[in-house]
Amino acid sequence: MFIPDQRALLKWYQQEGRNLPWRSSGDPYVIWVSEIILQQTRVKQGLPYFERFLKRFPTLASLANAPLDDVLKAWEGLGYYARARNLHKAAKLLNEQNGVFPRSYQQLETYPGIGPYTARAIAAFAYGEKVVVLDGNVFRVISRIYADPFGIDLPSSRKYYQTLADGLLGKANPSEYNQALMELGALVCKPKQPDCEICPWAKVCRAYATGTMDDFPVKTKSIARGKKHVAWFYLLNESGKVFIRRRPNSGLWGGLYELPNYPADQVPPELKKKSIIKKVGSFRHAFTHFEMELSIYQGKLPKQWNMPEGFFEVDPESLNTYAFPTALLNAFQIIRK
Ligand code: SF4
Repeated sequence: MFIPDQRALLKWYQQEGRNLPWRSSGDPYVIWVSEIILQQTRVKQGLPYFERFLKRFPTLASLANAPLDDVLKAWEGLGYYARARNLHKAAKLLNEQNGVFPRSYQQLETYPGIGPYTARAIAAFAYGEKVVVLDGNVFRVISRIYADPFGIDLPSSRKYYQTLADGLLGKANPSEYNQALMELGALVCKPKQPDCEICPWAKVCRAYATGTMDDFPVKTKSIARGKKHVAWFYLLNESGKVFIRRRPNSGLWGGLYELPNYPADQVPPELKKKSIIKKVGSFRHAFTHFEMELSIYQGKLPKQWNMPEGFFEVDPESLNTYAFPTALLNAFQIIRK
């Protein structure tokens, strides 16, 4: 197996790499927060959240001692809320051990929400452990360099790609090398129309040599997306209060707040009275495995309706103090129009 030129990659990174706040930090807490935020989130979108989150929870102890509601509120808008819940859970566990992070990726992986990728990132960036962080960008670069036909979405390929990636590290500084490799995937070896002409590894890239960049990485499974249609109700009582409740901690949008809602074909007749409740809009929201169509209704609380358990009344002005899923924040914008 050939090893692409490390010096060319590092030189490119020194000239073109972005100056991102977590890159200059050797603090495992800061690195951990940045990695969790950047899962499923682009750097540009995640950066303000990272800064806001660290301002609100500057230390591991401040995160561990905060109520979950505060953590979810700080996470509002980022989606994939299991990340925030696990961050909070793991912070509590680490704080019970005097806030000392394990130094190896194997030990880090035993904490909630710290998967193989995040564990390697913390171990390599904070402690210089000699491992390569196999994120989506690195998968793409490696599969193109070697024009590798193994599907990156197959669990059996993961070990293969990890061994391949770890073999590239050699004597390079793990923190700098990983950052450079990830940055190459993010800025040059992009999913569509990679900028091969300016790539420091263009001379050895098999996909570029054969013009087959779009064929890699190989994905074997295609995600079958289901559809759900849900009706959401913004209902005001006679005092002008609206009804919300907190969702269970596990499952979709766990621990966040919601409005009364029903599958669109199971709406009770009391909520279909057009004289008091009107549809004010609808939109779609995509999840990893399904798409939700949200129909938004607004009106007066019907007297006869049997409100599901757990709802309580709040002043509409105070809604912004509760953590809602992004989809419902969009619904509120429709309602306020
Ligand atoms: S030459 Fe093109 S396809 Fe190959 S690693 Fe560089 S950017 Fe990616």
